[in-house]
Amino acid sequence: MKTIKSVYMMTDLEGVAGVDDWDPRHTDYGNEAKGVYERSEMQRLLTGEVNAAAEGLFKAGVREVLINDAHGAGRTILPEALIPGVRIARGRNRPSWLLGISRQFDALVQVGMHAMGYTPNACLAHSMSRGILYRANGREMGEMGMAALLAGQLGIPWVFTAGDLHACRESEAWAPGIVTAPVKEGLSDLCAIHLAPADARDLIRERIQEAVQKAGDIAPVTLQGAVTIEIQREEPWPAKLREGTERVDAFTVRYTGKHFWQAFHHATYGKPDMPLPE
Ligand SMILES: [Zn+2]
Repeated sequence: MKTIKSVYMMTDLEGVAGVDDWDPRHTDYGNEAKGVYERSEMQRLLTGEVNAAAEGLFKAGVREVLINDAHGAGRTILPEALIPGVRIARGRNRPSWLLGISRQFDALVQVGMHAMGYTPNACLAHSMSRGILYRANGREMGEMGMAALLAGQLGIPWVFTAGDLHACRESEAWAPGIVTAPVKEGLSDLCAIHLAPADARDLIRERIQEAVQKAGDIAPVTLQGAVTIEIQREEPWPAKLREGTERVDAFTVRYTGKHFWQAFHHATYGKPDMPLPE
C-alpha cells in the first residue's frame, strides 16, 4: 500500500457547518457592520474545519499539507489562525484554479464542499457561479468533480470530502470508496441542519484519518480520451464569444480538449495550452 505523505486540500465556504447564506462580500451591506460580522464568522467557521482536517492528516502520518483557499474571494481562510506545519495558497489574479497542484501530491481532500448547481434541497448549491450547469462528456459535474478530475489527470486520488450531506453523496457517486464527513444536511438552498462546529471538527479530524488509511484503495477520478465540456446558463450567452468557443444553442457553449485538463483550462481560463504540471 502506498503511504500518503503529501496531501492537497481544496477548500470552499458554502459547505461549512454553520454557513447557510451566501458570502456577503458582494451584497449591498458587505461593507457595513452586518456584512463584516457575517463574513468574519464564516471565515472562523471555515478555518476551524480546515485546521481539524490538517490535524487529522498530520495524526495519520502525512508530512505535507497544501491548502487552497479557493472560495471566490481567495482570502477567506484566516492565515494567522492556521495550525503550524501547513502551507496555504491564496489571493487574487490566480493563474489557475488548483494553485500549486503537482504530481508530488499523493491524495486530494476537499473541505467545506457544497453540491453542484440544481441539486434538490442542497444548501448553497452552485457550480462556479449561480445559474450555471457544467457537463463533462455529457455528465453533470460540480466544483468537486472538476477538482477531482484535474487531480485525477495527474494520477492523484480524491479520498475525502467534508461538507453538506448532498455534497458527500455527490462525491460518493464520483469516487467509490471515498470517505465523507457530512457536517450539515441541506433542507433548501438557504437552510440546513448543522452539527455544532466543535462536533463538525471532531468528525472531520476522525474521518480524514480513515481516508488516509483507505487512500490506496481509491482510484483517481478520470475520463478517458478527448473531453468535451458544456456550460449551460439560464441567461443566453453574448453574441461575441472567446476564440475557440463553440456555440451549441443560445444557452449552451462547448469546449473540447485532448483530455480533461486541457478542456477545463480552455473553458474556464481561456488557456487550452496550460501545461500539465510535473
Ligand atoms: Zn464553490
